[in-house]
Amino acid sequence: MHFTLPESAQAFRREVRDFLAERPMQDYPADATDGGYGTGPFSREFMRALGRRGWIGLTWPVELGGGGRPMIDQLVMLEELAFAGAPFGPLVGNDQWAQSLIRDSNDRLRDELLPAIAAGEATCWQGFSEPDAGSDLLALTTRAVRDGDEYVINGRKIWSSEAGAYTHGQLLARSESIEDAGSRANGLTMFVVPNDAPGLTLRPILAMTGEVYHYEAFLDDVRVPEWSVLGSEGEGFRELLRGLDRDRFWGRFTKPANLLTKLDQLDAHARSHRRDGRTIIEDSGIARRLVELRAEAAATRLLFHKLGWQLSNDLPVPYESALYKTMADELGQRVANLAADVLEQDTLIRREPHRFETEMHHLYLSSPGQTIAGGTSEVLRTTVATRGLGLAKG
Ligand SMILES: Cc1cc2nc3c(=O)[nH]c(=O)nc-3n(C[C@H](O)[C@H](O)[C@H](O)COP(=O)(O)OP(=O)(O)OC[C@H]3O[C@@H](n4cnc5c(N)ncnc54)[C@H](O)[C@@H]3O)c2cc1C
Repeated sequence: MHFTLPESAQAFRREVRDFLAERPMQDYPADATDGGYGTGPFSREFMRALGRRGWIGLTWPVELGGGGRPMIDQLVMLEELAFAGAPFGPLVGNDQWAQSLIRDSNDRLRDELLPAIAAGEATCWQGFSEPDAGSDLLALTTRAVRDGDEYVINGRKIWSSEAGAYTHGQLLARSESIEDAGSRANGLTMFVVPNDAPGLTLRPILAMTGEVYHYEAFLDDVRVPEWSVLGSEGEGFRELLRGLDRDRFWGRFTKPANLLTKLDQLDAHARSHRRDGRTIIEDSGIARRLVELRAEAAATRLLFHKLGWQLSNDLPVPYESALYKTMADELGQRVANLAADVLEQDTLIRREPHRFETEMHHLYLSSPGQTIAGGTSEVLRTTVATRGLGLAKG
């Protein structure tokens, strides 16, 4: 079977390639590290360059300052950025944030933020998890209390990716007690909080890579105006769920493309380097794994394309994003393990900038966290079993 894209999407792919060819990706300074998502690090300069082309708001409605382009163009653009190893770190999460603002926000919040997001100036982190609330997110205890036309937020978040590098946090807090709300899923509210809000303190957490990617957020009497609510008061959990499937889709869509590039680099290295008197590719175990992983990455890429088509046609996706996210993240771990066997250990450890060995080292250390971020593989397998296969909940 042969899959092709519409001519308009192929033309746009060429346009993105030309843009990427204009300037080497290494020339864009990194402002924050890559979390292993296949999206590269965060470069403000690169985000602004995308903003100037109108590509951050590519698919947003024209009347809201967007490009009004079809979703397929966004898929094409993201893949090209991933193939090229571009530093587009927050682009995907930002678009999800923008889509929530477009869909659910009051005019004030939308008018304040959309132009800044489109220009690459505003970037958003997610403050959902807490020290005692991860997979069981409804156990969160951060409280928001209404005080006139403001809310006062108190609590603590953890593992918030890139919080210190971005400009705003999306925070989930309990605004009504469980008793009054009637269930744990009710009475939660989603807020947008600027990083410079008095009372918000971000503490960096050092990752295995030796870099800072996660932050702990302390909220001590943080006051936000009532128009900071994303969606409606008390509807925060539904707001979260609405975005979750798309978040898992977009958050991993670029990974197969990024891994295919990494596999090409590993292949080239294995052909040009020798070990024990023969080229590394002559080791049939390495050659077999390269072929298998390439086939898996190519198949996962197609599954994501299919899911993109389902989402753009508003078709139900009860389990697909959970399944493909898990597949992509576990594939990333296997590619990282192959890299550890193909590359010489000292090149992995030296960590010189802009070397593919350094990127592989980074992938090796960041890929374990990927099967935890955005829902653990164990929890997502339960989603596939119950929502996909119809098995009873244990
Ligand atoms: C790289 C990375 C980035 C992250 N970024 C963010 C972020 O930006 N914002 C944010 O809010 N959070 C973020 N997180 C936090 C992430 O969402 C949580 O770590 C995740 O939901 C798991 O929660 P937990 O760490 O509390 O583990 P727990 O929920 O305590 O899980 C511990 C173990 O128990 C297993 N387990 C738990 N419940 C079940 C179940 N019902 N069935 C089977 N097994 C179960 C889990 O699979 C896991 O192995 C990030 C985490 C990582 C690693």
